[in-house]
Amino acid sequence: SMLKDRYNRIHDYLRLSITDNCNFRCSYCMPDEKMSFLKQKLLMSPEEIFDISKIFVQLGVNKIRLTGGEPLVRKDFGEIISKLSLLPIKIGITTNGLLIDNYLEELKKADISSINISLDTLNDQKFKTITQRNHFAKVWENIQRCMQENIHVKLNMVVIKGVNDDEIIDFVNLTKDLPIHIRLIEFMPFDQNNWNKEKVLSNKIALQKISEQFSLFKLKDDKNDTDKKFGIFGHSGTISFISTLSDSFCSTCNRMRITADGKMKNCLFGKDELDLISAFRKGENIIPIIKKSIFLKHQKLGGQFDDYKNIQPHNLENRSMIKIGG
Ligand code: SAM
Ligand code: SF4
Repeated sequence: SMLKDRYNRIHDYLRLSITDNCNFRCSYCMPDEKMSFLKQKLLMSPEEIFDISKIFVQLGVNKIRLTGGEPLVRKDFGEIISKLSLLPIKIGITTNGLLIDNYLEELKKADISSINISLDTLNDQKFKTITQRNHFAKVWENIQRCMQENIHVKLNMVVIKGVNDDEIIDFVNLTKDLPIHIRLIEFMPFDQNNWNKEKVLSNKIALQKISEQFSLFKLKDDKNDTDKKFGIFGHSGTISFISTLSDSFCSTCNRMRITADGKMKNCLFGKDELDLISAFRKGENIIPIIKKSIFLKHQKLGGQFDDYKNIQPHNLENRSMIKIGG
């Protein structure tokens, strides 16, 4: 059976947050206040992650992405991916890159051939300002390690006006000699992340800037891709644009989420959550809960806004990004 919502969208992709903890402090992701993280024993165990994933696979899921918080801060990360690699799915990982060198063996064993690494600047001082941590060199080294190990690297850059929009061209330049994929992401509003529309640089403008200096050609996108991909004549790498705000891709959405505290969310921007883990731990059948969550899914942007230029951040009801799982 397939998970189809009221708008006929088939849901076959699960994004699973395995922790709300992180070794960085990116301000667009974490609220300023002192964060309290879930106690380790409340997080889903590797067995629970496997068993719940198996249920989603029975319901047609063919891709699971591990995210967080920072997924690699979990000591049992190796065990989690080795278990998941037994399922007939594509496994994705989104990470800040700091701890990748600890897990290269495990990644290989689990047949992970591509990894999404978040990096918003190539300047180590600015890196420190954005993440509150002084780890640019280590992250950059790990990015190179991945490429040496033939793991395809997709770099996620959240573009924020006045913070790193002056580095877009530098990121595109990386693709000249490196077989790397750069993804420009529009800055999105979440709980207490000081978002306002003036800080958003729409991808349309980014594309214009890039086109002035590089000769781009369109690459084919897959049907549920959220990014629009381009090649650059003479370059080894590629770029793409994730225009969540200015050109949302809700009509082809196939994604659902489980938060680190075991709640199912049907949309990044939705406020609806259903408690999966409590039911699962009581031994109840969670399939009706999953189906109900998908049934409740809104047509667009969690039903909370339409044109991002009219968003009043204080009217949005949602979690912070780190508590959702990117
Ligand atoms: N810690 C991992 C990392 O940084 O890649 C995984 C979790 S993080 C929440 C997932 C992705 O969400 C990252 O690429 C991050 O840059 C992005 N992200 C966080 N807050 C965002 C925001 N306000 N707007 C757009 N992207 C955001
Ligand atoms: Fe941590 Fe990733 Fe959020 Fe940065 S974006 S605070 S690395 S979870």
